[in-house]
Amino acid sequence: MLFYNLNKPSEKVDFRTATIQGLGSEKGLFFPEYIPFFPESWIYNLNSEPDEEIAWYVMNQYVGDSMPEKTLRKILQETISFDIPLVRLSSRVSTLELFHGPTLAFKDVGARFMSRCLGHFMKGQDRQVTVLVATSGDTGGAVASGFVDVAGVNVVILYPSGKVSLVQELQLTTSGKNITAYEVDGSFDDCQTLVKQAFSDTDLSRKIFLTSANSINVARWLPQQIYYFLAWKQWEDKIKPPVISVPSGNFGNICAGLLAYHSGLPVSHFIAACNSNAVIPEYLKTGIYKPEKARATLSNAMDVGDPSNFVRVLALFNSEFESLKKMMSSESISDGETGDALSSIYRLYKYQADPHGAVGWLALNRWLEKHPSESGIFLETAHPVKFLEVVEQFSGHSVIVPESVSELFEKKKSSEKIAADYQLFRKELLRIR
Ligand SMILES: *Cc1c(COP(=O)(O)O)cnc(C)c1O
Repeated sequence: MLFYNLNKPSEKVDFRTATIQGLGSEKGLFFPEYIPFFPESWIYNLNSEPDEEIAWYVMNQYVGDSMPEKTLRKILQETISFDIPLVRLSSRVSTLELFHGPTLAFKDVGARFMSRCLGHFMKGQDRQVTVLVATSGDTGGAVASGFVDVAGVNVVILYPSGKVSLVQELQLTTSGKNITAYEVDGSFDDCQTLVKQAFSDTDLSRKIFLTSANSINVARWLPQQIYYFLAWKQWEDKIKPPVISVPSGNFGNICAGLLAYHSGLPVSHFIAACNSNAVIPEYLKTGIYKPEKARATLSNAMDVGDPSNFVRVLALFNSEFESLKKMMSSESISDGETGDALSSIYRLYKYQADPHGAVGWLALNRWLEKHPSESGIFLETAHPVKFLEVVEQFSGHSVIVPESVSELFEKKKSSEKIAADYQLFRKELLRIR
């Protein structure tokens, strides 16, 4: 399998190169040159397949030529070494809990897979690679946890000071070892700008080998398909496929689901559940794509004003607006509605969602009201403890703190404060390499 550059289709690379480089030239995202199709005989017999086997069957199509089967199997085993249960809340609503990984967010799946692939590809190389990542909260922790102790790889994380939750901050500042965190005096956009400046600094890239661990990297994007197959494995009514609502920010997650659908996974409809950052809901209404500055909301991991994976969604549908609209709709949910949803979910099902899951639930609920014969799944993308105060306020009940978080509270934050100034940041990069 080769991957082509969406901005320059003649540029084709294998999985190894796409993983190491992150982006193609002209900042183009890599995209599979064909979509594998999985036979119904496999799709309708997943119930009896072990999760690892499902993961391998899917990922082997994309990665197979780039590493030995044994290596891929081992990486996948470590990638999904935690539960991904489908929890039924009512006769029509279920949630797929993606937060049982080490940093309690679905990003663990992609980050663990990418870190191990990159570690494998860097083996025996005489140079180190530096993974540079800007985070609004969850990516940093998942990347730190995924990459800690991976030989040949250094990780530099930038996060906006005072704008991530306490648990998120501890997760991204307490790994130590090959992970360095910078607390930037500025916004998430400032962090992202510093990262972009570093990537386009050709003099710097002669001195340090930089790559990105954001969801544009195929090694983070592709493994997310796995849990859509695991959801289907656990879905009881095989005659009536689910509607799936995905809390969306950069659109990597939902795009992986749409890819699975194009490979034959039965799904009746996708809902991209957004907060008040409503670029895609507006696009689906008007056909006009108008990027905006990101707005801060209760579901901060989805505060994205120009979702970078959306070009991949368009590519999956050959940019055919009508067929995209038939398969995917999008809702924008305000903070007020998110709070109300957190309360309703507790009242209706005695279930504590997190603000991202609550956005997903409300968008699903609106769809189900209009489509009485359907039933669906919303993805729970983070554990409620990551947004403790909000969740406790609106659900009216305290969150049970998992052990991994209690342990975190005993660790000491270690980060370097830095102004949002590229020359300063550049000096730091050269110092710590
Ligand atoms: C990153 C994240 C999202 C958004 O996922 P995208 O792939 O960027 O659309 C949603 N919820 C949580 C908790 C996240 O961390």
